[in-house]
Order: sequence, then C-alpha cells, then structure tokens
Amino acid sequence: MRDLKHLTYVENLLQEANNELIKKAKAEGKICAAFLCENTPEPLMNLGNAFGVRLFAPNTGSMDIATYYMTSFLCENSRALLERAIEGGYNFADCLVAPDGCTMINRAAENMELLHTMDGGKDKFFYENMEIALKADDNGVELMKLQCINHILNPLNKNYGIDISDESIRKAVKEHNEICELVMALSELRKEEYPRITAYEFAVFCLATYVCPKYLLKDILKETLEEVKNRTPDDKKYRVRVELVGSEIDDVELLRVIEECGAYVCCDRYCFGTFPGRVPIPMTDDEDALTQVCRHYVMLSQCPRYMNMEKVYGRKQYVADLAEEFGADGIIYQQVNFCDPWAYEKLLGATMLEQDYGYPVLSVNRPYNIASSVGQMRTRVQAFVESMEIKKIQGGAKK
Ligand code: SF4
Repeated sequence: MRDLKHLTYVENLLQEANNELIKKAKAEGKICAAFLCENTPEPLMNLGNAFGVRLFAPNTGSMDIATYYMTSFLCENSRALLERAIEGGYNFADCLVAPDGCTMINRAAENMELLHTMDGGKDKFFYENMEIALKADDNGVELMKLQCINHILNPLNKNYGIDISDESIRKAVKEHNEICELVMALSELRKEEYPRITAYEFAVFCLATYVCPKYLLKDILKETLEEVKNRTPDDKKYRVRVELVGSEIDDVELLRVIEECGAYVCCDRYCFGTFPGRVPIPMTDDEDALTQVCRHYVMLSQCPRYMNMEKVYGRKQYVADLAEEFGADGIIYQQVNFCDPWAYEKLLGATMLEQDYGYPVLSVNRPYNIASSVGQMRTRVQAFVESMEIKKIQGGAKK
C-alpha cells in the first residue's frame, strides 16, 4: 500500500515523551497537565489553557534506579515511568495527576513526588493522587466526581487559573470527542477483509492521541483518514485476524511483531488503545458535564480494578462482542511482566473466552519494551497463527 504521508512524522513523535508537539504547545504558553493511568478522565486534563498528556517511557533500556526504589517485583511499566522521571524525562510537565488504578502506578507516582522528579524550580507544580472506586456503580461515580474536583479541577484552577466551569468542561469534551470520532473512523476500516490500514499504522496514530496535545494532532488525523479511505488495499490477505487485549501497550513495535507473523490486529482492548479509551463521551444538556464525564469513565472502564461481578463478567463479554463485531478469529491476552491486575484478569479472560465463547486464545507475558524479547513473542504468535490456520482448514477457528 502507498505510504501514509504523516506516518514517519508521528512515529518520530512517539520516540520521545517530550515530543515536538508538546514543545510547540508549551511555546504557545499552554499548561501541560500530565497524568498516569486510563482511569483519568482525559477531557478534564484539557480544560481552557491546559493540554493533557499521558506519560509513557519510549525506548526504555535499563530500569536499575527505579528497581532500587521499587524492587523488581513491581511491573515494568511503573518502573519504566519512574526511571524516566528520575532521568528528568518529564520536566516539561506542569503537574502530575495519578489515579490509583493499581498500587504499582501509585508507588511510581509517590516516588516521583518524594524524589522531586518534575517540580524542580516550578513553584506552581502540583502532584495529586486520586482514589478510584473498586465497584462501578453510582457510589463509584460520586467518588470519581469528588476526586476530580479535589485533585484535578481545584488544583488546576488554584495554581494556573484554568477555567473549570461546566461550559469549559463541555468544550473540552467536544474537542475530545472530535479526536475520538477520527480514531473510531480509522478503526472501523479494520473491519475490512483487505484492510486499507495496517494494525501497526493504526496503533501509531491511536497512541499519539494519548501522548500529544490533541488540538495539534487533529488535522494530521483528518488528513490521514482521507488518505486511508482513498488507498488501494494490498491484494494479499492476512493469515488470521486477532483481537489484542490486556495491559497498557505504549510500544507500537509489539503490533509490528504480531503483524509480521501474519496476524492482523483487527481490534484492541488494551490501555492506551481504542476501546474504551477512544469511545466518544455522550453528553446531554439536562445534567452537569462533570457527572456525565465521570459516569462515562467509571461505567465504561474495562480496567480490572473494578471488581463488582457485573464488571468481572462484563469485561469478557466486552472482549467477545468486539471480536464478533470486527471478525476476529482468535484473541491474544497479554500482560506486562508483574502487572498484578492483568495477571488475574488475563487468566480468567483467556480461560472464559476459550471455554465459554469458543475463541482460540494466546496468553502471553511480555516486557515493557518488546525489543528485549522480539524472538520469544514472534515464536509464540507464529505458533498461534499456525494453530488457528489448521483449525480454519478443519472448519473454522472459533468453536
Ligand atoms: S501495567 Fe498493570 S500493574 Fe503496571 S501500572 Fe498498569 S495496571 Fe498497574
């Protein structure tokens, strides 16, 4: 297929946490509201003169210093983030908001604060930790509202004079939804038998919407969507189609490894991915904006943190519905090494999607930076692809 005009530029943006678009937004006098974890209501980080950026640690090598502070038993994601913070990689941020999606991200945020990794010489800088409910229900929504008011809205307003009015939140949700609708439109094209966008390309543009100022990415996404729609697909079919599920993925090389094995990631359910992170937030005029945003993030969240039974079973149904909708032959459940929430969720999910929903499932652990075990991952995925091809020949991969 013809190369996409903006792919290389956006790939380069993903090589650094402090990328060119962040520098541009800061040069325009904007406030960088950095956050960790998908339980953070993103529109609230993009109010008025602020732009939200979810932190990641591209091209992570050694994590020795972070391991000294957090031990090697904590997940590689949280250690990579702390390592990058200690190295000064997040000095562009003007505040840090960290929901306790899990204890590990909490530990990382706590160490970032105790070691003053980001606030050097910035008198208005603030670190805030939010509490996230364990049950997705009305009480959970009320808790999220209170936490957002205390740990996002008031600190942004008090320190940087950010407009936190209902009107300002509605404007931020509208801009957020514009980006989500563009990502969703690209995602829909993954349903095609001969897709006009590769899974790797899609992941690059999707990830960029988390780690770059959205208002500076919108035109790039619009142009790319038009370009893809006018693209001629390759006439070579992928061997199988898979859904990719699990821990946060902010290393798009993982998608390239899977794709090179002949498996097209036709849909995804992982942190930093499309579902539910890029599902537009429905808004009405008959209720305040903050409540609607918080309800969306609590009720639609697929984070294993939520432990009420409706959520525990609902997460498997959500994965199965996506697989059905996008025509996946099988499912890959993956987790970052030592990721607690996804350790139990992956076990339960892989078992139920195989036994109750009849999908072939590959369940894998992986390092934060896939570069350190590409061979292993390739071997596992190739074997999975072959087993599904055999099942297909014998009358359909899905039981
Ligand atoms: S990868 Fe897992 S353990 Fe690590 S921060 Fe994310 S959810 Fe928590």
